Parts: sequence; structure tokens; C-alpha cells
Amino acid sequence: MAPKTPFRVILLPTLGLFLLPQLAKAAVPRTCGPGVTVKLSAPSSSQGSLLLLEVRSRKPLSEVTAEWNSKNVPFWQVSSVDSNSSKGAPSNLRQAILGVDLEKAPGTYSLSVRVQSSDGKPASCTLQIPIRAGKFATEKLQVGKEFVEPSQEQIKRANEERDKLRAIFDQVTPEKLWDGDFRVPLDGVTTGGNFGKRRVLNAQPGSPHSGVDFPAVTGTPVHAAQVGRVALAQELFFSGNTVVVDHGLGIYTFYGHLSEIDVKVGDDLQSGQVLGKVGATGRVTGPHLHWGLTVERARVNPLQLVKLLANPSKKPETPTPQ
Ligand SMILES: [Zn+2]
Repeated sequence: MAPKTPFRVILLPTLGLFLLPQLAKAAVPRTCGPGVTVKLSAPSSSQGSLLLLEVRSRKPLSEVTAEWNSKNVPFWQVSSVDSNSSKGAPSNLRQAILGVDLEKAPGTYSLSVRVQSSDGKPASCTLQIPIRAGKFATEKLQVGKEFVEPSQEQIKRANEERDKLRAIFDQVTPEKLWDGDFRVPLDGVTTGGNFGKRRVLNAQPGSPHSGVDFPAVTGTPVHAAQVGRVALAQELFFSGNTVVVDHGLGIYTFYGHLSEIDVKVGDDLQSGQVLGKVGATGRVTGPHLHWGLTVERARVNPLQLVKLLANPSKKPETPTPQ
């Protein structure tokens, strides 16, 4: 019997590999009125994640609306140039990005979609989306009181800055300013850590870490993840020298702890344009870039946006195996 043991050890991870793509499989499209289908990039999601929502119609659509997280979902129309449909045929494909905040309570949530075709016939449908708890690390630290408790003045300042950021993230610029895929802000970097990490300081739970950290040498150029307009460029108490870029449709990227800011509020940025340099400003232990993403106020992992929109026009429609 002894020789069987190594097999079991090898087999289990192998089975895991086969099961994983099955679980991550995109949801089957479902109909939403005659000739209209609704599809999500995955049948379920988890805290701090993104979903791509697609509404496709045989007939031209005059209006598509949806509600998620008690907010109107901003859709964009996919240009017919991207589709391989016959010459000049209008593309009746609308897309939207849904964000799941990293502290959204796990459970099943409704997404209601309403469509109106050009002949005036309305239709609606509701999708149920299960949201799982995110798998985030917890860091427990025991530190001197003075490091955990900022002064009254510092608290006041931090609260004012938090409110200012919330007011920015609440504004949904109706135009889609970006075009194509999003990039990681540092050259040659594909991954970063700490997203969603829970910090417990002296047994007091702090707010979760809402971005991805990329350790880098001070002075490393930081690039805009996509086309956008600078919504904030200033020094903040927690995140030091900070830049926030509005990409339209409720999508904002956040760049913190910069040693230098190279842009100002209102600047229109190209994708990849240098907006500042890596630094160690604000409350940090060493130089790194803190990169955040909010989608209609939901704090989500920015690396997911890079993956979600990677070459959408080149991605073949994969038929669902039955
Ligand atoms: Zn950070």
C-alpha cells in the first residue's frame, strides 16, 4: 500500500487545477426581453473585485440602464469597428464595469437591468450575484500609542481629506475618457501586494488597505494607467503626495506616497504619461507606490481592471462547453 501515498499527493493539486477554470467560468448569457442577452464576466464575485457586464441586442437599443449598489450603472457603447460583424452594421453591444467594495458584506445581491429597443419596447430582468468574502491577510501590530493615535489636529485634517476624496469619487463624469486597456503605473511591474489587508493595531481594527503597494526606488516614474483628467494633486496626511485621475464613468485611479507630483488639477493625461515619482511621503515605512482604484465609490483591486479590459477586441468569444 505504501507506494500509493505519493500518487495521492500528486493527484490532489492536479485535480485542483482542473477544477479552478470550471469555477471561474463566465456566466452563461441570459435573455432580457426579445433578442437581448445579458452576460457577466463571472457568475459570482468577491469583495474588492470587478465584473464586466455586457448587454447585447439583435435590434438597436435606444437605452440601457442598470442598478447596482443603489447606483445607476454607467454603460458605454462598444464601437462597431471592434466587432467583426458585417460591414457597417451597428454594434448593439453595451458594456459596464461593476465594482464590489472590499468591505461589502458577503451575500447575494440583485442587479436589475432595463433595456429599451429603438422601436420603443421596454424589457427588464434581474440577475442575482453571489458575493463571497475576500481572502485578505490580517496584520497584527503592537506599537506605541503615539503611532496609532494621531493628534486632534491630525484627525481633523485626515477627516477633511477623506471627505474631499469621497466628494470626488461621488462624481460620475458621463464620458468614457479612457480607450483600451489599463496599465500598471510602473514600467516592468506586473504585480503588487497588500490589497485588502486588514490591520489590527494594539487590538484595534483599522480600516483595510484599499490599494496595491509596489515597492520601488524613490524617483521611479509613475505613469497614468489610462487616459484621464487629474481630479486631485496635493499632499494628504495619510497618502502623502497624491494624484487622483478621473477616467470617466465613475472610474478613478489613485497614486500615493509620491516624492514629486508632475501634474495639476484639470490636466488631461495621456495613457502612460508620467504624473509623478515614487516616494515615501505620508504615513509609510519605505518608498513605494500605493495604487488604488474606485469604481462608483467601490474600492476595488486595480490589478483586476488591467486583466478585465486586456485587449477586449482581440479576445475571441469563447463558446461555453456543454
Ligand atoms: Zn498602500
